[in-house]
Amino acid sequence: MREDSDTKLFESSVGGSGFGRYPLLPRPVPALAERVRCLARRLQLAGCRWRPENHPCKLTIFGRRKLPESLNANAMTNPHQPSARLRLAAALDGLAAVFGGMTAHPDEHNCECHWGSADELAQLKVPDTELDLDLLGRTWQAPDWSDHASVLRRILPQLATALVEGSVEPHDGFEEVGRSFARGLWQQWPTVQAEAVREFLHALWADTLTDPDPAVPAYEVLALITEASATLTPWLTTWETVTDRAADSHLAEAAAKWEYDLLGDQLPWDSWENEEEKRTELTAWLVRNAPARLRAHGVSEELLHRIRLLGLTGDDRWEAPHWPGHRY
Ligand SMILES: [Zn+2]
Repeated sequence: MREDSDTKLFESSVGGSGFGRYPLLPRPVPALAERVRCLARRLQLAGCRWRPENHPCKLTIFGRRKLPESLNANAMTNPHQPSARLRLAAALDGLAAVFGGMTAHPDEHNCECHWGSADELAQLKVPDTELDLDLLGRTWQAPDWSDHASVLRRILPQLATALVEGSVEPHDGFEEVGRSFARGLWQQWPTVQAEAVREFLHALWADTLTDPDPAVPAYEVLALITEASATLTPWLTTWETVTDRAADSHLAEAAAKWEYDLLGDQLPWDSWENEEEKRTELTAWLVRNAPARLRAHGVSEELLHRIRLLGLTGDDRWEAPHWPGHRY
């Protein structure tokens, strides 16, 4: 059995070396065995229509880490943040209350060659048991569930907590997580379920904006919640109203991250639909809102020039004195 060999590997390769602040956990860390299994899957892929991109093939430290200190109401040190913190904690509780006890459909299946084992699939049909992070990752990423909504409901409380903890690792960007939400069509779920998801997205955003050092950068969270909800508008509206130092700092970081793509008329993340509308909206919002905030925040003149150039189009932009000479 895989479990036995994995456990031995775990004991021999990890036991004793001490993973520092991670206590030894009851589940094995299948480092080598997992890699071998991945390789085996790759070799079987000839007949499979899905590629192995959804399978991270990397050592993952399993088990629940504690929530960050900052989420602990007793450890709040930022006086501007407590309401966002408490709201996020309440939203996580709300997800657990609403989606606890849910499972994937009894007939749900996936391909062993690229997704995972029968044992792992069986775990999705048992409510509430904690999945290891690698299994959690493969589950939200898989594009080929028969009933993605049921799978998403099964994992939502743990996925949301993992997002807050910073232990979700997409391959490219956090818009992938948002697309998993979108695939579940959560906005069409029963009201109490849809509201729990909506409240989590809003609470995550509010907390991210006010947290000076969020687990996931604001520009990534924005991509996630935009793809999850198919709209940019409410999130930008919130950013407009949250104007403390942390939110301005995230705006400076995001503007620096986005300017290259936006100056080339590209949305800075992969979007499934309405990419052009989102790019136009984000660009116009930045041109309108960013300069005063960023100037007050003390960003470079260079970045301010680039934001200003976003307000120009075509030759006016490319022939302007401060055009950075980007090539695409
Ligand atoms: Zn397959």
